[in-house]
Amino acid sequence: MKKKMFDVIIIGAGFSGLYQLYLLKKNLNLNCHLFEKAPELGGTWYWNKYPGARCDTESKAYCYFFDKKIYNKWDWSERYPSQPEIQKYLKFVAKEFNLFENISFSSDVSKMRFNDETNTWKISLSNGKIYNSKFVVDVKSTGLFLTDKILKNNKCETIYWKTGHSHIKRKVHKEKALAGFEKSGHFFFNPPLGYGYDDGINSAIQVCHLLDNENKKMSEIIQELPITYQSPTMAPFCKDEEKYTLVDEMVIEFKRIKNQKIKIDNQEIKELITVNGIRFSFEDGSWGLIRASSNKPSLVVVTESPTSDQRKLNIFKFIDGILQKTGKIGKYDQKI
Ligand SMILES: Cc1cc2nc3c(=O)[nH]c(=O)nc-3n(C[C@H](O)[C@H](O)[C@H](O)COP(=O)(O)OP(=O)(O)OC[C@H]3O[C@@H](n4cnc5c(N)ncnc54)[C@H](O)[C@@H]3O)c2cc1C
Repeated sequence: MKKKMFDVIIIGAGFSGLYQLYLLKKNLNLNCHLFEKAPELGGTWYWNKYPGARCDTESKAYCYFFDKKIYNKWDWSERYPSQPEIQKYLKFVAKEFNLFENISFSSDVSKMRFNDETNTWKISLSNGKIYNSKFVVDVKSTGLFLTDKILKNNKCETIYWKTGHSHIKRKVHKEKALAGFEKSGHFFFNPPLGYGYDDGINSAIQVCHLLDNENKKMSEIIQELPITYQSPTMAPFCKDEEKYTLVDEMVIEFKRIKNQKIKIDNQEIKELITVNGIRFSFEDGSWGLIRASSNKPSLVVVTESPTSDQRKLNIFKFIDGILQKTGKIGKYDQKI
């Protein structure tokens, strides 16, 4: 997943926050986002709604001057406008400049942490949302991490990393990732969710928080997951002394297939990940993986397709065809 971050975070949707958003977005074309703890626009004009709340500067002066059209388009009804009219005016300005799309309401910024290695800020909200986080996942994991809307909307980055709980744990620590998921079930949560260990009780607590925040049953959450077709982990026999060199050959072979734009089930390879064997993926999110088993004389082959079961099978057939030609693999423990 391409790293997606905000260039600028603005806090507060009052007169000044709105103007900053306008300037940074429209004038400097920056990727910015505004967080406001109130559920609506207005700043102090949202919070102060007592009877008679109004401004004591004349309306023609208590407004924005940066855009003539906007200035002329808005007609104040009173010389000293009241709270509802000022809040309405701010909503009008935000609508005119499409600023709502860059604002999250009910979002109280509770913590900002600077990472001096990456020169980035991590923003945490008191409602539990954390933006710009990294997730480390086992290279055998589903490709849905790359298309997940929640991760995308929260500008998170997913890193596919070497299989094995110690590899994932180290990477979570090194990247200061929010969480790491090893496919066999070791979940690592870093602060503020955990202490970096694969703590089963904490994992269960996080699932309880998820259920609590979503206010849905587990079965409903599972039902909402997008459909994808993944093979089991298939292990064709391969001698211990040959498996790593064979995987190195596969890395070279799949780089050639990508460079020569050779199609697999009508798609060209879009991306290669070589942290642990070779994982190649396509535009539609389908992928295949070949790696050497760390504890058995075998390779590990996995394929997945969110498009169709048939595509998952076709990718496997392609891999198997190449492996068979080498003459170095034997029987699979299981096959699709
Ligand atoms: C009744 C009244 C009359 C006034 N009359 C005048 C006047 O006549 N002339 C004049 O010049 N000024 C007047 N003011 C002053 C007014 O405060 C300013 O004019 C102006 O509206 C301030 O805008 P702002 O964007 O700087 O701050 P605010 O409007 O205070 O906006 C700050 C926003 O930041 C949000 N926020 C703060 N912390 C966080 C966080 N951690 N996470 C997320 N969101 C956060 C708050 O919820 C708030 O909405 C008046 C104020 C009041 C209340």
